[in-house]
Amino acid sequence: MSGLRVLYVEDNEYNRKIVRQLLSRTSYQLLEAADGEEGVAMAQRELPDLILMDVQLPKLSGLDATRRLRADPRTAHIPLVVVTSFALSGDDRRAMDAGASAYLAKPYSPRDLLALIRKLLPENRAGS
Ligand code: MN
Repeated sequence: MSGLRVLYVEDNEYNRKIVRQLLSRTSYQLLEAADGEEGVAMAQRELPDLILMDVQLPKLSGLDATRRLRADPRTAHIPLVVVTSFALSGDDRRAMDAGASAYLAKPYSPRDLLALIRKLLPENRAGS
C-alpha cells in the first residue's frame, strides 16, 4: 500500500491500458474510473494524490467533474490534470477555468505524461 496514488478518469479502455502499463514501471499506484460520476465518487472516497481527467466522458463531463471536485473541500487541493483532444476548441482554457492544475493535449507521448505526473507529484516524496 505504499506509493502515491493516481486516479485516471477515462472512458477509453485503450488509453487506460497505456497509462496502466506506463505506471506499472513506477512506484505510483493507479486507480481507474470510466465515467465522470464514478470518477468524482472515487476521488471523494479514495482521496488520491493526483487526478488525471479526460474531458469527453459518459454521465458527467470531465470539466463538470473537475468543478465538483474543486467545490468539495476534501478534494479541492488534489492536483488535477485535464487531458483532452480538443486543445484548439478552447478546452485548455476551460480546463483551467474549471480549476485544473495543468492541462495536457492529446496526442501526448507516454514520456510527456510521466514527466508531468512526476513534476506535480514527485515519486520520491516521503511520508505519504
Ligand atoms: Mn473520453
